[in-house]
Amino acid sequence: MVGNKVGLIWSNDYQRYNFGQSHPLRPQRLALTYSLMEKLGLLDNPRLEIISPRMCTKEELEMVHSPKYIDIVKKISDNPKDDSVNPFRHGLGPGDNPIFKGMYEASALICGGSLIAADKVWTNDDFNVAFNFAGGLHHAVKDKASGFCIFNDIAVAIAYLKKIQKDIRIAYLDIDCHHGDGVQWLFYDDPDVLTISYHETGQFLFPGTGSINERGEGKGKGFSINFPLLPGTSNRIYLNLFRKTAPKILEAYQPDILISQLGVDTYFDDPLTQMGLSIQVYRDIAQTIKTSAKEYCQNKWLALGGGGYLISVVPRAWSLFLAKMLDVELLNELSQSWIEEVKEKAPNESTPYLLWDRGDKSDVTLLANPDVTKKMIDYTKELIKICDDEFIPALIRY
Ligand SMILES: [Zn+2]
Repeated sequence: MVGNKVGLIWSNDYQRYNFGQSHPLRPQRLALTYSLMEKLGLLDNPRLEIISPRMCTKEELEMVHSPKYIDIVKKISDNPKDDSVNPFRHGLGPGDNPIFKGMYEASALICGGSLIAADKVWTNDDFNVAFNFAGGLHHAVKDKASGFCIFNDIAVAIAYLKKIQKDIRIAYLDIDCHHGDGVQWLFYDDPDVLTISYHETGQFLFPGTGSINERGEGKGKGFSINFPLLPGTSNRIYLNLFRKTAPKILEAYQPDILISQLGVDTYFDDPLTQMGLSIQVYRDIAQTIKTSAKEYCQNKWLALGGGGYLISVVPRAWSLFLAKMLDVELLNELSQSWIEEVKEKAPNESTPYLLWDRGDKSDVTLLANPDVTKKMIDYTKELIKICDDEFIPALIRY
């Protein structure tokens, strides 16, 4: 029997993962998340245990990344001006992944957090879920940083689980607005790691991959699944697709553990993307994931964070996820002290007054545009059909 304790991995040092003031991935979003969880009373829940992360060792990072890449990150982290190495060839430098002092330690700490979370859920039967919301850095690959991700903590956690349990079968479910490319490519030929990604279509958004035809290769054929979504996809259309596909896929695969990447940059107002979800929908998504983990994934769920670039929004969405893990029903309100904190840390964002926005702006927009709505509904129906006719049969043959 798996118990019902929830591990939350947290350290103030997570905020050291900081690409600088003008970078969209602001560390304040993590502190604001922890503080909101605290103010909502979630951290006092008797089922919750707060767990400190530790840095991943070099050997643990080598389960995923090449020794050469790890070495370069370490060198420029110690001395950002070190000209004996060529960081640009490895995706590091001005642009998405700027070099900063201490970047090795900051990244290794996040990886260590995800590894500890994986270990808790897999080896300690008191825990059925652990949440490392600073993790979820899904774009990094073996030799390269990409899309704000230096080391791939998700892949490190997967590699760790495969190491301690040789025959383990892992399902990875990624709801970030960007395709979960790094994790997909790192396990593309592995039938024991099923990757499922729901994301805005790569036709319009970084990293450009994640088409419906990327399905794995070799022995892993059929074990990569992608749902590229149209810009502006609304709550209702998203949920309909998600509920009709994700649980069925997991039921067919019957993994030993579920790992989810919970990026919330699908929010309608996110500055980096063009999707149409509002905050309340994350509660429904959380419910579907939780039920699926319980019914089809041996009640073991490792939850990680991911994207989301409005720091007034990300903490609210992730608090709804944590509340769902704890079976707590929250009221739709925010404490004045947290609102003040947001005003101070995010002076350029509109001030939130409620925990979730009631607005269903994209659904309203769609109602006013019946042609667009029809196109979107037809497109989603097609995805559901492909899932039923092709994705699921490929898993059952396993
Ligand atoms: Zn993203």
